[in-house]
Amino acid sequence: MSVTAALTRGAMLYEGKAKMVFATDNPELCVVLYKDDATALNGLKKGRIAGKGAINNRVTNHLMRLLESRGIPTHLVDELGDRETLVKRVTIIPLEVIARNIAAGSLAKRLGIPEGVPMKRTVVEYCYKDDALGDPMVNESHIIAMGWSDEAELESISSLSLKINEILKDYLSGAGLTLVDFKLEFGRLPGGGIVLADEISPDTCRLWDAKTGERLDKDRFRRDLGGVEEAYAEISARLLGVS
Ligand code: UDP
Repeated sequence: MSVTAALTRGAMLYEGKAKMVFATDNPELCVVLYKDDATALNGLKKGRIAGKGAINNRVTNHLMRLLESRGIPTHLVDELGDRETLVKRVTIIPLEVIARNIAAGSLAKRLGIPEGVPMKRTVVEYCYKDDALGDPMVNESHIIAMGWSDEAELESISSLSLKINEILKDYLSGAGLTLVDFKLEFGRLPGGGIVLADEISPDTCRLWDAKTGERLDKDRFRRDLGGVEEAYAEISARLLGVS
């Protein structure tokens, strides 16, 4: 019997803003369920984006399969349904890794640079994952001093993130999309080693139409630009051939 066929969804381990995580009868695996709920501004703005859960589930898995095929280890095991995926159970490293190719969002604001200005090289930033603190930006010495990661692991995180950026940038450009910036999370496997975890979706990436510069991501929700569902459907159509 396959791993998936033997699976029973157990207790909920965690409920976040956009996903729920359930235990399974295999202690090394869990199920992620993607919700349509959307939040922004550190939870202050709340809403629903119809169809988002299914799109983010399928887009994430599609991109993780691509990354796996290019040698990036991920937590993905098996897509179970429209909004549910079986993943390896990991301990999430409490960092949001942000890679940026073009100035936008908080970087543009902080440094007084207009959005849309390309940068001379990819910028990698880290934020400490703590909702109550508003995920503050930290540097490598904070991370090592606080024991959130160590030098060798951080080196892997940073080189994997840059490699992921190159693979995704090229792939998305083939779909007429500019990868402006995105957020990654990594997890530790019980036996050692790290894998890419969490999601890669229009919730966690800035994706602009390569020709028109139109925003096709969660900024439409964050900034009340309208056409939110349509933007998610457009990403689904371009990457998966279905909307
Ligand atoms: N991002 C994310 N989750 C967060 C914060 C940021 O997925 O909690 C993503 C966001 O979608 C964007 C990138 O990380 O693609 C950089 O976000 P930024 O720091 O500019 O923050 P924002 O302007 O979204 O507050």
